[in-house]
Amino acid sequence: MKQTRIPIENIHINDSFWNGRIRNAVENVVPYQWRVLNDKEPGAAPSHAVMNYKIAAGLEQGEFEGMQFQDSDLAKWIEAASYSLLYKKDPEVEAALEEVIELIGKAQQPDGYLSTYYILKYPDRKWKEIAQGHELYVTGHLLEAAVAYYQVTGKDSLLKILEKNVDLIRSVFGKGEGKLDSYPGHEEIELALMKAYAVTGHRKYFDLAEYFVENRGTVPGFLVEESFQKFGERNKHHQADYYQAHAPIREQKDAEGHAVRAMYFFTGAADVALEKGDETLVKALEELWEKTVGRRMYLTGGVGSQATGERFTIDYDLPNDTCYTETCAAIGLAMWSLRMLRLAPRVRYADIMERALYNNVISGISQDGERYFYVNPLFLKPDVAHYRADHASVEPSRVKWFGCACCPPNVIRTLCGLGGYVYTQSGNDVYQHLYIGNESTLSSDAGEFRLTCESKMPWEGEARITFHGAEGVKLHLRVPSYAKDFTLKVNGKPAEYSVTEGYALLAEALHDGDVIDVNFVMPPHFVLANPRVTEDCGKAAVMRGPLVYCAEQADNFAYLASFRADLTKPVTMEQSDLFDGIVLLKVSGTRQEAAEWGENELYRDYAPGGFGEVPAELRMIPYFLWNNRGEGEMMVWMNAGKE
Ligand SMILES: [Zn+2]
Repeated sequence: MKQTRIPIENIHINDSFWNGRIRNAVENVVPYQWRVLNDKEPGAAPSHAVMNYKIAAGLEQGEFEGMQFQDSDLAKWIEAASYSLLYKKDPEVEAALEEVIELIGKAQQPDGYLSTYYILKYPDRKWKEIAQGHELYVTGHLLEAAVAYYQVTGKDSLLKILEKNVDLIRSVFGKGEGKLDSYPGHEEIELALMKAYAVTGHRKYFDLAEYFVENRGTVPGFLVEESFQKFGERNKHHQADYYQAHAPIREQKDAEGHAVRAMYFFTGAADVALEKGDETLVKALEELWEKTVGRRMYLTGGVGSQATGERFTIDYDLPNDTCYTETCAAIGLAMWSLRMLRLAPRVRYADIMERALYNNVISGISQDGERYFYVNPLFLKPDVAHYRADHASVEPSRVKWFGCACCPPNVIRTLCGLGGYVYTQSGNDVYQHLYIGNESTLSSDAGEFRLTCESKMPWEGEARITFHGAEGVKLHLRVPSYAKDFTLKVNGKPAEYSVTEGYALLAEALHDGDVIDVNFVMPPHFVLANPRVTEDCGKAAVMRGPLVYCAEQADNFAYLASFRADLTKPVTMEQSDLFDGIVLLKVSGTRQEAAEWGENELYRDYAPGGFGEVPAELRMIPYFLWNNRGEGEMMVWMNAGKE
């Protein structure tokens, strides 16, 4: 389905749930991260990202510090800061952007080369460590930043720098004589090239993206590199599948390996599939998506269930406490699902995109925006997390920054770029996937039209959409799978509609000034997991609309796992004054009293009634809000059933 590009600058989010988060990102976090990247934030792990460029540009003396992909932290910040200008024209941010782009230009080598790690540290190893080097990954993030900056400001300064860099990459990689026939160790450049292609129309970006997508897993590529082989010798979790290089994409049966890499790869591959209109590639991606979310995804939209290799493991292996569920991977799943929506507007893609965004993605950032999770577990007992080796990646509390800081700027660019997730369009067919309040200007064959959405989601299932424009626009409204029932009214009267693949289309044409009210019934309810998931057997979780809920010690008691929910009693709602007035959910059940046991009494013979005789209630908050009130136990999946 040929897509109509919706410029992100034409979508203005104005939504009671997201405004505060976006405003915080724009006003506080973008400047905060700028200070961090410039090493001017006390208490935050050193970044050195800007300094690396200054040294590479010859403006400062010193040595490279950080990860080999440190440049990408700055790139993601440029993308976020560019989008932030959509919400606030901040002259300081604009000046910082101009300054840093000029700096990147000065650091760029005459042939277009850009990675400061190799410029400063290992100039003789350029393009020789494709598996681990991240040069192409860094280019990908810089290219995404360049596109965002160009879209928002109209300035192509960074795009020109990146074009020169991409031209260099085109001269180095490819099938021709003397070229390096390979593909990136860490995918990212593919989707970025497709963004550059979309805004510039230059075919060379598409050609390179297609080459990298199609080439992956088909030739020796970096798999013959010494560094790749050394890694593989030591660790079975760092074989070709870690890089999604175990087979050509059409022969890949499951999402394998490093979760962020896999998500970024499939995102870029879906972009290429759409542009090519390639049915075999689309089919491969559809199957991969279904198996990923049907067998390897956490309830929260998190993916990657093992810290070693930050990777996928096997079907139904979803431990709640030692999961990886990296914030970036959930962002990747949202990005991939958005691309699947462009290929075919099916409600399940939007359901998962929304689930990732409202749960695993925004749990990655604290309410004040200044602390971050890399790993987003579904169960946490802080003393265990502090001690155990297999919890080494699990931070019991969000931290100010990371030595490997991919996640914090990734969340911010996602928040500031949220407008890109709301709609897709194909000609006169517009699909509204997310009920996020916004005011948007789009174009149809009959000219410009405006859509305004006022929404109470996710707290209530109501949204109002107003249409202004000429006739001819077909607005397809998502009916989320969690809606137990729904009503659809036009200008206050029940409307006739048909539903295809979970999208409602009004029988009558839209007229200028039409007001559409949707109301989804979304009661809180228990969710069960497939019994193939060992860790969730005999357990239940609670959801309402797109939100997964969790219990925190702060609202309950210690030893949360001692609670057993009574599934025969309904989950009830309570308007609270926590977090500016969220809806709490309450679950009835029983719990074992730790105080009834001696501290040296580990075991006891069972006697009837001895299991969980204390009536108890579990108070639950949305998962994304956990750990905003200090360190404590947290639990998503609870024991279920009656004694
Ligand atoms: Zn990350």
